[in-house]
Amino acid sequence: MILPSGFKKNIVSQWGQTSWEQLENAIQKPPATSVRLHPIKQKFVTLEGSPVPWCPFGLYLSERPVFTLDPSFHGGGYYVQEAASMFLWFVLEKLTGSNKEITVLDLCAAPGGKSSLIASFLDHHGLLVSNEVIKNRAYILKSNIEKSGYHNVVVTQNDPKDFQNVPEFFDIILVDAPCSGEGMFRKDPASIHEWSEDNVELCSARQKRIVADVLPALKNGGYLLYSTCTYNDFENIDNIVWASDHLPLENVALDIPDFYNVLPIHKKGKTGYQFAPHLQNSEGLFFSVLQKQQKQESGKIKTTKSFVKVPNKSIPVLKKYSDSTMEPVYFFDPNEEVHLFPAPYFELVNVLYNKCRIIYCGINMGRLIKEELIPNHSLALYILLSGYLQKLDLPLVQSLEFLQKSLNDVSSDEKGWLLITYRNLGLGWVKNLGNRVNNYLPNEAKIRMDIHKNMDKEFM
Ligand code: SAM
Repeated sequence: MILPSGFKKNIVSQWGQTSWEQLENAIQKPPATSVRLHPIKQKFVTLEGSPVPWCPFGLYLSERPVFTLDPSFHGGGYYVQEAASMFLWFVLEKLTGSNKEITVLDLCAAPGGKSSLIASFLDHHGLLVSNEVIKNRAYILKSNIEKSGYHNVVVTQNDPKDFQNVPEFFDIILVDAPCSGEGMFRKDPASIHEWSEDNVELCSARQKRIVADVLPALKNGGYLLYSTCTYNDFENIDNIVWASDHLPLENVALDIPDFYNVLPIHKKGKTGYQFAPHLQNSEGLFFSVLQKQQKQESGKIKTTKSFVKVPNKSIPVLKKYSDSTMEPVYFFDPNEEVHLFPAPYFELVNVLYNKCRIIYCGINMGRLIKEELIPNHSLALYILLSGYLQKLDLPLVQSLEFLQKSLNDVSSDEKGWLLITYRNLGLGWVKNLGNRVNNYLPNEAKIRMDIHKNMDKEFM
């Protein structure tokens, strides 16, 4: 792998020749495979591996399986995530302690690795707004959020500036900024050819703009978490210095165990933290924490519309689907689909409904037709789905056929809606009509791979 000379020049000047050689060597080696288990769904997962030190649910696998051929991957049992990215868990734990009733914005969230980590960290508490500005990426984000199955997540598709309409809304904002991607050279060698000094400069300017644009949405005293998957100072510590000098933000240092082997990056009294393949069994990541130090005029945000709550008479039908002990609110979206959401955050979600473009919210339960619920796919993935629903647990091949939408009949005496499960993990819905089954898996969730051909290869 030939690395760009400008890239080498930056690293040598930052970290010296020896570190450059170590990094260059490490980039030539195969990347590690790691997953983050879902704290609740993990009981349905059989993967084994060694722990990722900074995240209690992180696991290094000894080899990379074909994840598409594992139904528990589709059911949200785990997320395939680069180990360094899981450092966010450690940071959240340090900053929040035991208070999880917080509002968090993940501003640059697609495909959803860090958002699903935040949702798991919050463990049904608080409110996570997971945002992605690029439309098609926002829908990928939505589907990963759906898989994680939490009811307290809203997916939006907005420009960072749009969040100025909700001043002082969030306790934590994560800016996992679009970057030149140096830290992914090993995993994605194609990105080497996209690297240029001009692009680094462009990314650095865009990152500053993103941080400045979103800052009004952060509460006074709230934390802005900044990360990139690069090594160069221009996109990393220089931006932290710039943000501390130009914005009401103060850099916060973290106390990190030595054995994580994280490289502290210091400049002008500011600190960031670097992961790199020659330091950890991971790809590259830069992380830094800033705290807002400014009270601004916010006042009550004016709203003109609100989601319409489901009438009381329909609530018993909906209650049957959830084991949740939290106080839920059920409301209709503009397409008349019913959503389940934590009642204490209903007012906030209505503010977002007025000021942002919401594409997904809470758990989409489905459509109520004459007091019958036509369940939505997202309900099948809900972690608090009632244990009393009709289920059909399928073996591996049939589960994959269900996910490929080629399963035409099932042996079940139970008619009507059946939750399809694999090792008891919900995958989706079918309606058993007796002589045939209708598969309600949405096309976007369908496996496109030839499962039989690939299974022969995988299990030979
Ligand atoms: N946080 C994600 C995760 O853990 O899966 C990865 C995020 S990726 C590093 C950066 C994201 O920022 C991309 O999804 C990209 O589409 C988005 N993005 C690109 N330009 C942006 C902009 N001007 N403002 C905000 N986000 C942007």
